[in-house]
Amino acid sequence: MNQTFIKTYCLLGIVFFCFINAYSQTEFQVIESKIIQHLKTDVDANHLNQMITTHLSTQQTNGSWSDIDYTSEIETGWQPLAHLNRIKSFALGLSTLGNQFYANQELLQRTISGLKYWYVQNPKSSNWFQNEIASPMAIGEILILLNDKKVHLPKSLQDSLLQRMNQGDIKNAIGANKLDIATHMIYRACVNKDQNLMSIAVEEAFKPIEFTAAEGLQFDNSYLQHKSQLQIASYGQVFLTGEYKVASWLKGTVYALSADKLKILNNYLINTFLKTIRGRYIDFNTEGRGVARNDVLDKKVITEAAGNHTLLALAKLVSPENSEIIKAAEERIKQTQAPSFNITPSHTQYWKGDYTLHTRPSYSFNVRTVSKRTVRTELGNKENLLGKFLPDGSTNIQRNGAEYFNIMPIWEWDKIPGITNRDYLKDQLTTIEWGERGVSSFVGGVSDGVYGADVYDLDYDMVTAKKAWFYFDKQVVCLGTDINSYAVENIVTTVNQTWLKGKVFAYADKKLSRVKSKKSMIKPNWIWHDSIGYYFPNSAQLEIRTQIQKGSWQKVNANRSENEVKGRVFKMWFNHGVDPVNANYAYIVMPGLGKDELKNHPQNEIKILANNSNIQAVKNEDLKMIQIVFHQAGTLTDQNISITVDQPCIVLLKNINTKKIIIHLADPTQKLENVNLTLH
Ligand code: CA
Repeated sequence: MNQTFIKTYCLLGIVFFCFINAYSQTEFQVIESKIIQHLKTDVDANHLNQMITTHLSTQQTNGSWSDIDYTSEIETGWQPLAHLNRIKSFALGLSTLGNQFYANQELLQRTISGLKYWYVQNPKSSNWFQNEIASPMAIGEILILLNDKKVHLPKSLQDSLLQRMNQGDIKNAIGANKLDIATHMIYRACVNKDQNLMSIAVEEAFKPIEFTAAEGLQFDNSYLQHKSQLQIASYGQVFLTGEYKVASWLKGTVYALSADKLKILNNYLINTFLKTIRGRYIDFNTEGRGVARNDVLDKKVITEAAGNHTLLALAKLVSPENSEIIKAAEERIKQTQAPSFNITPSHTQYWKGDYTLHTRPSYSFNVRTVSKRTVRTELGNKENLLGKFLPDGSTNIQRNGAEYFNIMPIWEWDKIPGITNRDYLKDQLTTIEWGERGVSSFVGGVSDGVYGADVYDLDYDMVTAKKAWFYFDKQVVCLGTDINSYAVENIVTTVNQTWLKGKVFAYADKKLSRVKSKKSMIKPNWIWHDSIGYYFPNSAQLEIRTQIQKGSWQKVNANRSENEVKGRVFKMWFNHGVDPVNANYAYIVMPGLGKDELKNHPQNEIKILANNSNIQAVKNEDLKMIQIVFHQAGTLTDQNISITVDQPCIVLLKNINTKKIIIHLADPTQKLENVNLTLH
C-alpha cells in the first residue's frame, strides 16, 4: 500500500465523517425547528407578554417567586411546576422573533437565575409523574427554546439541567407515560445532538404502534388499557395524539415513523376511532370511566378548528394522503356537513375488545359486551360511580349524534340502552374499583365487514340471559331469551333511554296515537321517537316514559359539580317481572324512519326464525340473508334450507336461494379447533 493511497484513503475518511456529521446536524435542526414550531403554535402573543411582565415584576433577585412553596410534595396541582412554566414563558418571549422580549438581555439573566434556583432547590413531589415526566418535560421545552444563536445559557448550567432531565424508566413504562418520557428524551437528544439517545427515544416512542396481546393496540384494531378493558377513545385517543405529535416532528428525517407502523396508526385512527364518532359525538362506550365527565363525548376538540396541536391537525400533517377522509370527519364534527357525509356502510366485530361497530349513512348502532377475556367498564378516582351495568350489551343508537350527549347525570343507571338487569329503586354504586373481569365465554360475533350478528351470554348480578343482535342495512334486530333471575326486583330489558326530542307516537291496531308522559302497553306494534321506529313483533309488557329526570355530575363523578341537571328523557323498557323463568324479548330498531311510514309495514322483510335456548336466528328476505346464533349443536330449517352445525357457533349466510351461497362462521368461545357445517 503506497503513501498516496493511504493519504487519499484518510482524506476520504475525513470527508465521509464530515458528511455524516453535517447530515445529522441538519437532521437535528429539522427536528428541533419542528418541536419549536409545535411549542410556539397556539401561543397568544398578547397573553404571553402579559404573563412575562407579571412574572418579571414578582420574581425575586434569587430567581424564585414568593407565592410558590418549593418544598411542597403534594401529588396533584404541585406548585413548584408553576416555576418552570413561568420560566417557559420567558423562554418563549426570548426566542420568538418579533416579540418585544426577543433576545432581551435582562430577561435572559432572569431566566438564568430562575433556572439556577430550580437546579439548586431541586423540588420533588411525592407523585413520580411530576418528577419523572412533568419536570423534565418542562425543562426540556425551555432548553430547546433557548437553544438559539441569539440567546445563550451558560454551558455548565445547560449541562447540569440536561443531566437532571435524565429521569424515568422508558423501557418499562407503558402507554402515554412511555411516550412522555420519550418526548423529554428527544428534547435532550436535540439539545445535545446525541444520535444514540435519539435512536433509543424514537424506538421507544413508536413501540406502542404494534399489535399486542397485552395492554395497547389489539390484533382486532381495538385499544385496551387497564387490563383488557375497552378504551378506544380515552387512552386510545391519548395514544393517537401522542404518536402523531412525535411522528410530525420526525417526519422527513432518518428517525421518521416507518411506513408499516404509519399504516397501523392510520388504520386505527380511520377504521376504528373515527368510526365510533357519529356527527360530532362519540359512542358513550368508548370512553371508559371518562363517560362520567361532562362534555367528553363532544369531539370538536380533536378538529383543526380547535388548534394546531389537535389530533386531526397532526394526523393530516403526518399523512397528507388521508387529508380528504380526515377533513370529511372534521366537517361532520364541526357540523358543516351532515352526520351521513362520506359514511359508507361497515360492520366491525372487535373480538379482542368485545365491541361491535355497525355504521350506516343514516345511523350508528354499536354494542358493548364483556367476556371472561375482558374487563367491565371501570370505576376509578371516584369517576363513573354508577356505571355498574355499562358493558352488559349496551346499545349506542345514534342518528344526529347528540342522543346521549351529557345525559349521564340524569340517566337511570339500571336502564342503560340495550341491557337486561334488575330494576333497583335506587341506582347501584359500583363497588369494585379499576374494572371487574367478565365471566361469560360465549360472547362474540360473526361479520363480513358490512353485516353481522352478535351474541352475549349475560351472567351478572343474579341475572342470566341469552342476548343477540342481528345487523342489516335498514334495521337491527334485538333478541333475548332464557332470561332468569331469583332476585327480588323486577327484571327489565331497556330498549332506549335518550334525550326526548319531539313527540313520541305509538302505532297499534292500525292507528297512530301520541304517547304522553307515561304509558304501559301489551301489544304496541310500533313505538316511534326522534326518527327511529321500534317494532315489537310479540306481546310484551312494555313501559314508556317521557318525563323529566334530575341528577348531577357529582352523582356519577365525585370530582364534578353538585349543581342540579335536569331534562326530559325518552325511556322505554320491557318489564319481565319478578322471578322470570325463561322470559324473552324481541324488538327491531329501524333508524331513519318517518312516523307516517309505520303503517306500510317497513319491517316485513324481517322474519325471526328462532328465539329459544338452542337457536336465535333472523332472516332478511330482501338481502337474501340468514344470521344464526347456535347456542348448541343443532339444525335450523327454513323453507327449503337446512343448516346443521356440530358445535355452538354463529353463522352468517348470504345469497340464500341462489347457487352461490356464501357462509361466514365465528366461534364466540375462541377455543374451537373444528366446526362442521352441513347445508342442504
Ligand atoms: Ca331503577
